[in-house]
Amino acid sequence: MNNNIIADNFSLLAKLMDINGENSFKTKSYSVAAFTIEKLPAELSSIPEEKIFFIKGVGEAIGKKIIEQLHTGELSLLNEYVSKTPQGIMEMLAIKGIGPKKISVIWKELEIENLGELLYACNENRLLLYKGFGEKTQQNIKESIEYYLSNQGSYLYAQIENHAAETDTKIKNAFPLEQFELAGDLRRHLETIDKLEWITTASQQQIITFFKQQEYKIIDEDEITTKLKGKENLLLVFYHTTQEKFYQTLFEKSCSEDFLNEWKNMFPFKNSYTAEEEIFTNAGIDVIPPYLRESEKIILTAQQHKLPEVIQPKDITAIIHSHSKWSDGINTIDEMATAAIQKNLQYLVLSDHSKTAFYAQGLHEEKIIEQHKEIDELNKKYTPFKIFKSIESDILNDGSLDYSNEVLSSFDLVIASVHSNLKMKEDKAMMRLINAIENPYTSILGHPTGRLLLSRNGYPVDHKKIIDACAANNVVIELNAHPKRLDIDWRWIDYCLEKNVLISIDPDAHSVNGYNDIRYGVIAAQKAGVTKKHNLSSFSMQDFEDFIKVQHTKRP
Ligand SMILES: [Zn+2]
Ligand SMILES: [Zn+2]
Repeated sequence: MNNNIIADNFSLLAKLMDINGENSFKTKSYSVAAFTIEKLPAELSSIPEEKIFFIKGVGEAIGKKIIEQLHTGELSLLNEYVSKTPQGIMEMLAIKGIGPKKISVIWKELEIENLGELLYACNENRLLLYKGFGEKTQQNIKESIEYYLSNQGSYLYAQIENHAAETDTKIKNAFPLEQFELAGDLRRHLETIDKLEWITTASQQQIITFFKQQEYKIIDEDEITTKLKGKENLLLVFYHTTQEKFYQTLFEKSCSEDFLNEWKNMFPFKNSYTAEEEIFTNAGIDVIPPYLRESEKIILTAQQHKLPEVIQPKDITAIIHSHSKWSDGINTIDEMATAAIQKNLQYLVLSDHSKTAFYAQGLHEEKIIEQHKEIDELNKKYTPFKIFKSIESDILNDGSLDYSNEVLSSFDLVIASVHSNLKMKEDKAMMRLINAIENPYTSILGHPTGRLLLSRNGYPVDHKKIIDACAANNVVIELNAHPKRLDIDWRWIDYCLEKNVLISIDPDAHSVNGYNDIRYGVIAAQKAGVTKKHNLSSFSMQDFEDFIKVQHTKRP
């Protein structure tokens, strides 16, 4: 064991002790020791043990720990701190702009345990409420995390779509005589992407030469596949094929395994196709777009010419679920309304945070009265456009909502969401959710699992029971359109449709720019075959007002 490793161990120990809130006098002695050892002219392993104690800045306690490391190769006190510090917290040490003291606040006070959650908190301006975190610090932390995470090789669909399109154009321009088509998870519109895949008639040599010039590294190659990585750390995969087999390969690489297996059982491939659509027409069925090639059941639907007319961004008529400056949003209600009008939308459902969400300046009762006055004024100004009064009410620990019935009845509709104590077992999560769904004031269940893609799994739920309860209580399930949430997962939406549960594609906008996220919600909904009839935020003003009337009949 050399001095550098010993010094690094002490330095990490000091940081972890700080993060765990230990007395700073104790932790300081370890960081001083790390500093001293790094600068020693001789290796500690070459110094007689009894002399180690006399090195300046070492002393009795540190000396013993040096000898322990020389003998065992380990520092047991460090192991102890490593085991009681979550992995996600340790990772924060790699982020520029946050030292151990700030990490401690993030962990113990904001109850954030990994980088994904921290990034999300930056986006929601939650850090600003804590001592030592200014706007600039928050911005630095955010950028630093984004950089770090982008180096991990997995991306949200929203993060990678432009890069994929640019790379696609670049190679098509470089090889005008060859065929290239993007396939794989991106073409299927999956919510997270860890590789970009192309089908191509270009040779392996052509691809390798081209990308080597751009400083890409070859990860793997065999006769039919080339895998490369550039500085984005994203895997690029090229499937080399002939012109004859191009569309068959494209088809095979643009669907789920279940879909492909069923297809092969039902229809043989011809030797050659001139377009991908020909594969479908040849089989006598309607063309199934790549985003629907998931469940094998869709093949039968296409055979019966019953493919759904899936929802499009233009079918969205309203912003449902949005936050203003009254809680943790960036824009005023007026600005939010104006932006919605500019987008030709018919109405806005304003749903700031409720009082328990203190980190988001959730609204106390007297603020709600004031806010409603402001909304009434704006509604006079902007009619026929309308702002509906709503709240994103926290689902409390026992599943109750955040206000008295009297206050709840002042809203046109209530969105109920879990924001606190996310770490819970399924029975606890189900108890909270079912109670909230059964509450007669709940109209929409917000982001039902609390997941943050690539950073936090949702709390465990029994999706079927949740959907059944929503069906029984006439509650709409949100499809939160934030590209990090996309919650409810599209894989559960067919069960919602089966049970006649409406979904609502909601941007959960914290600024007018947040409206743009609706597109990602629509893309996810399309994968589930959602039509505009199934989606609350596609309702006309009249239908929405009728919906609210029916919701109010549930209220006592
Ligand atoms: Zn929320
Ligand atoms: Zn929200």
